[in-house]
Amino acid sequence: MTIQRDASAHIKPHAASPEVQESLGFPSEKIDNWHDKAIELLGEKVQSSRALKLAMDACMKCGACTDKCHYYLGTQDPNNMPVARQELMRSVYKRHYTFTGKYMPWLVGAKELDETMLDRWYTYFHQCSQCRRCSVYCPVGIDTSEVSMAGRDILASVGLGQKYANQIINKANTKGNNLGLPGPALADTLAGLEEDVFEETGIPVRFPLDQHGADILLVTPSADFFAEPQVDGLIGYAKVLHQAGLSWTLSTAASEAANFGLFVGSRSHTQQLGMKIRDAAKALGVKRLVFGECGHAWRVAQNHLSELVGGFDFLDDNYPKPQHIAEVTHELLTSGAIELDATRNAHRRLTFHDSCNVARASSLGSTPNGQFTVPRALLKASCDHFFDMAEHTTKQTTFCCGGGGGLLTDELLELRIKGAKPRMDALKAVVEQHGVTDLVAMCAICKSQFATVFPEYGYAFDQVLSLHQVVGDALVMTPAA
Ligand code: SF4
Ligand code: SF4
Repeated sequence: MTIQRDASAHIKPHAASPEVQESLGFPSEKIDNWHDKAIELLGEKVQSSRALKLAMDACMKCGACTDKCHYYLGTQDPNNMPVARQELMRSVYKRHYTFTGKYMPWLVGAKELDETMLDRWYTYFHQCSQCRRCSVYCPVGIDTSEVSMAGRDILASVGLGQKYANQIINKANTKGNNLGLPGPALADTLAGLEEDVFEETGIPVRFPLDQHGADILLVTPSADFFAEPQVDGLIGYAKVLHQAGLSWTLSTAASEAANFGLFVGSRSHTQQLGMKIRDAAKALGVKRLVFGECGHAWRVAQNHLSELVGGFDFLDDNYPKPQHIAEVTHELLTSGAIELDATRNAHRRLTFHDSCNVARASSLGSTPNGQFTVPRALLKASCDHFFDMAEHTTKQTTFCCGGGGGLLTDELLELRIKGAKPRMDALKAVVEQHGVTDLVAMCAICKSQFATVFPEYGYAFDQVLSLHQVVGDALVMTPAA
């Protein structure tokens, strides 16, 4: 693709249309009393969130976070230093909610929320992918993603919602998934995949849809149903579940794992999208709930879903919480239920991108640091040539792909390209040192973002492999399974 290079045109996302704003219960346009409303909401949010209160009260200005954000490293814009991003909100909070800020604002850097500040909020809270890398380095544990999420929700609540994320929430609410894929099209797609896999393997792997009484409901990002390279991941899940002889199904009603409510900082929208999954699981009578490869879906599933939807008391006692597909596959591998033959990936030399929402915002599996060990164990069992990127760019300190947090939209392309630079630099080093041929990830947004920015960085390989594509290719399959 040809990438438009116009730095000034790619600094903030388009605003949501009045129709979309209204459909999500937000004002259709900027309200007259936006200032007072925003200040009121800010106070409420800080009162109800310990993480936000910490961000408002505890920063020591030590500077440890300043050069840890990929958007700062890529753009060199000082406003993208995490501490500066926080300060946009902190200075306003001090002005309205602290004694010194009210009466001697100059002493503490307190500032008014005027039109200029409001515009800076919109710009820079949308230049944060909520990746939490800065929080790893902060001695007091301040999490800038909490600031940008709260800021976005306040903005949407005064009529300044973001087009891309809000449109997607609207589509997921009204059509069932982020892509607006209707049920019949989903069924056709899955039937086509069954034919493709049979042609490839000679084995009748099924992609069941709405199978009442199946043991497992698999909920996956809708990109897995048709977008390359994500669909190869879905094929991998199906092969593994088939080979292990597990009873499973997908769902038309829960045909989306992604939850953009998180990106716009809205508890009610995160909850509404989560309820669709709970309701579908209950209606289908499943015993287990498994999530496919989607970073922020897993962040929501592991950290928030049970509390938001009132628990999953109908699931099997042995699997009372949502599981990640990598965790399921790893259990099957270690128990001997499936076998992987690494020679089938002998043509590949792999490295792995730790997606932020798995690496830093959630764990995976029951083993310590499972979010790091489980995918690497699967890759090493699937391919003899695995090479990690440099230590400070992996695991807990992984760099964001540059397109997370609801920023995967064309009007932010310049920002996304620049934000990808630290990850691309680390990738370049491992390619040069080890002749790596493929980057593996387990997040639909990372896969899509990398496929877009690779040409800008001159990579010969043009797409990312799903973890389960690699696993599926190595899987030893038997017709009798
Ligand atoms: S959360 Fe990530 S994107 Fe946001 S300021 Fe911190 S490092 Fe940057
Ligand atoms: S590392 Fe933490 S305390 Fe230090 S400047 Fe950044 S946010 Fe403030």
